[in-house]
Amino acid sequence: MSAEPADRHRVVIVGGGFGGLPPTRFLARWRAARRGIEVTLIDRRNHHLFQPLLYQVATGLIPPGQIAPALRHVVRRHNNVRVECAEVTGFDLDQRIVHAHVLGLQAREVPYDTLIVAAGVNQSYFGHDEYAIYAPGMKTIDDALELRRRIFGAFEMAEVIAEPAERERWLTVAIVGAGPTGVELAGQVRELAVRSLRREFRSFEASSVRVVLLDGGKEPLATFGEQLSGKAAKSLERLGIELRMGARVVGVDESGVDISEAGTTSRLDTYTTIWAAGVEASPLAAELAKATGAELDRAGRIAVLPDLTLPGHPEVFVVGDMMSLDKLPGVAEVAMQGGLHAANTIVRRLKDKPGVPFKYRDLGSAATIGRFNSVVDFHGIRLSGFPGWVIWALVHLTFLTGFGNRLSTLLKWTRSFIGRGRPEREFSVMHTGGDLSLPAEVRAVVQPNPLPVARQALFAPRDEPLEEPESS
Ligand SMILES: Cc1cc2nc3c(=O)[nH]c(=O)nc-3n(C[C@H](O)[C@H](O)[C@H](O)COP(=O)(O)OP(=O)(O)OC[C@H]3O[C@@H](n4cnc5c(N)ncnc54)[C@H](O)[C@@H]3O)c2cc1C
Repeated sequence: MSAEPADRHRVVIVGGGFGGLPPTRFLARWRAARRGIEVTLIDRRNHHLFQPLLYQVATGLIPPGQIAPALRHVVRRHNNVRVECAEVTGFDLDQRIVHAHVLGLQAREVPYDTLIVAAGVNQSYFGHDEYAIYAPGMKTIDDALELRRRIFGAFEMAEVIAEPAERERWLTVAIVGAGPTGVELAGQVRELAVRSLRREFRSFEASSVRVVLLDGGKEPLATFGEQLSGKAAKSLERLGIELRMGARVVGVDESGVDISEAGTTSRLDTYTTIWAAGVEASPLAAELAKATGAELDRAGRIAVLPDLTLPGHPEVFVVGDMMSLDKLPGVAEVAMQGGLHAANTIVRRLKDKPGVPFKYRDLGSAATIGRFNSVVDFHGIRLSGFPGWVIWALVHLTFLTGFGNRLSTLLKWTRSFIGRGRPEREFSVMHTGGDLSLPAEVRAVVQPNPLPVARQALFAPRDEPLEEPESS
């Protein structure tokens, strides 16, 4: 990074998600800040990801680019914002430096006056990482495309398998976790089969696709309250989804899941298992906790002070899913408001005004169950069915980044929800030789995909030291 004039205030923001992008834009837009503040936004992805619609990418409704605008493009008009596509690996809080690597090839040291860390969470398998290869989660565009490959690939297999039990195994999709992600995905997979794939297969009725939603709790969408979760359960059953509450997954392998239910263990045969349960904070939370003495909770989230800073470091803010404060939920609204609070505090400090504690304004929650059917809870006003869906659709379109993305998403929804179209289905049957999610006889004949091998070579740890960072 080139030398900064002494009067510039250097803000480094780690993570361009829901916690990191709003403060970037705020500090870019604020006129006086534009003169006095220099922002560096660092993210290991080159895009901002609208995670709430990932399941629509996985089920062929919308293309990935529509929910993943390039960060560089989003901030192109703001000359005081610089984007670096790099993996942050650590911090030197005394020297006020962020350590990062670009594509694992180039080390970077980025100095700051104020730091905002919003690195989010990763999938958690509750100590069973060995499940991951058989039951991918849905946190990134790559995850959603992998799920698309597995879902549509399973139907292709069922088309050519004659043995009924084996075919049924391909036509069964197990989803672990009946929170918003699991419920939305289950609804879409079932609708995909019943509505969109009707008449496309010759060996089976698409409506025979089994979608089994498993959860150890009592009701789906438990955080929405008894009334709405009861309605959600009824809607799921009407859609033909098998809802198995009180069912704890105790094993996952290439051909099914083991379930513990009411003291007995049973087996669900399936080649397609999707993990929508559990998250753990970015490892950067533990790094910061080690450096500041802040506590970590069970999910690895770091406890922040009421103004979202860390003990002894008023210049370091942690926002979004990776922080813990007053049992606030890990939702987009908490992350966005937290990020804006941090940006506001920076501006107040530059105007010699004191900081204030973070106050969260709960704007409610929404989840969609299927076509024209959502549940919405807004300060005790509870809506379901079509009215709920209209609110859900408006909220999601509003928060999508970019007018073009909003418009094209609306057009895709119209095509799929009023008609039956599923235009975004492309996937490749080629996969890595090491992919154990398919049975051995299938693995034996598929062509290994050379791309991941090339990627592995690029990102593999190197024996030789990385190049020295550019002078800062
Ligand atoms: C499938 C799914 C559906 C969801 N649906 C909803 C919903 O309907 N409503 C709702 O309110 N919330 C929903 N959420 C939750 C919501 O997306 C999160 O609460 C929100 O994204 C949190 O924002 P964040 O900034 O903390 O993390 P993120 O938005 O995940 O952003 C973190 C960013 O940090 C980057 N990063 C991580 N580690 C590093 C590193 N070491 N170096 C550089 N960059 C790094 C990541 O690439 C990412 O861009 C959903 C989440 C998922 C996964």
